[in-house]
Amino acid sequence: MSHVEIYVHDQTRVVVGIYCFKMIFQLFFAVRRCFQEMKNCRRENTSTSREPDFGGTENFASSPATLTDYESLLKKNEDTCKRYKFASGWTKVRVLGEGGFGKVFLLRKKKTKIARKCVLSQPTEYGFSSEKIIHIQMSHPNVLKLYCWEQKANIVCFNLEYCSRGDIASHLIDLEEKDAKSYFKQLLDGVTYIHARGIVHRDLKPENLLVTKDKVVKISDFGLADFFIVNGKEIRLTEKVGTESYMPPEVLQSHWKRYQGPPVDLWACGIIFFKLMTKRKPWSRADLDDKEYKMWVENRKGLYKKDGWKELNKALRTLLKLLLEPNPTQRICGWRRVCRH
Ligand code: ATP
Ligand code: MG
Repeated sequence: MSHVEIYVHDQTRVVVGIYCFKMIFQLFFAVRRCFQEMKNCRRENTSTSREPDFGGTENFASSPATLTDYESLLKKNEDTCKRYKFASGWTKVRVLGEGGFGKVFLLRKKKTKIARKCVLSQPTEYGFSSEKIIHIQMSHPNVLKLYCWEQKANIVCFNLEYCSRGDIASHLIDLEEKDAKSYFKQLLDGVTYIHARGIVHRDLKPENLLVTKDKVVKISDFGLADFFIVNGKEIRLTEKVGTESYMPPEVLQSHWKRYQGPPVDLWACGIIFFKLMTKRKPWSRADLDDKEYKMWVENRKGLYKKDGWKELNKALRTLLKLLLEPNPTQRICGWRRVCRH
């Protein structure tokens, strides 16, 4: 074999080598993609309505919240609370909210501001109100942060993240459409997280949605919240609680004895969305005695000619149809799923 032939032979081998290497590389990535797809498929099939998927939402969910592990919770609370003790340099600036429940104050220490809500503590079968036990376990950008609580006799004070724009209800009148849509999207993100932790809020309304200076929505007030996952199992709830115009038929109407947790909050999200977009409420009570609600159930076309409804386009009405579905088992729990099991 001449020198030239050896040279050509070697060159061919190098080219074939590179080609094979490239093929193996491509094969590897194709197999990897296949596994990824299979994994996604399996995740899609095994997820339930407890973890609704609103699309593009970062998943902050971990295990369901719990009522049992409060030894460590109390210890953690005690440690954090040392920093927020009223005696240690905090001064009262003004009252942020007031009502039958008690008061919410704005407190300041140098440049730091917090809100302090003081309420009469209702003892439960676990010895203390579950509001703080539930709220302290929440950690999501769209859920108001509870730093710690302090209990003195039957008064409990919550030290909370401060939201300088206050609640949505108080600036609803001059709310722009783009902010309304952004607030609604954030509300759904927060609600998705709360449900993934096995908690139902049961009092979602603009008064309980606070806004920071950067227009970040924070779900607040866990006073009526409860567990719908207990010991890993979904339970039905019975208490007829909430704010009347935001309550779904299955909670409001007496012939329903027990109800599923998440659909209740999704209904309230529907009422909130209508209110954010039209500055009105769709009806006073989700009951057939209510004229507007009766029209919603029996004559939607007629209702769409009324003030508020006629301002909404077809896409927004479709969204409302999914959220304000009278049958809780048909109601949407995420963009793609209904609450049926
Ligand atoms: P209600 O029964 O009227 O709903 P409540 O016991 O539920 O009262 P909250 O909803 O927690 O109490 O607070 C009442 C009001 O105080 C809110 O609607 C809001 O205007 C104000 N407020 C509460 N917490 C904060 C906060 N962290 N930052 C700013 N304002 C707040
Ligand atoms: Mg409230």
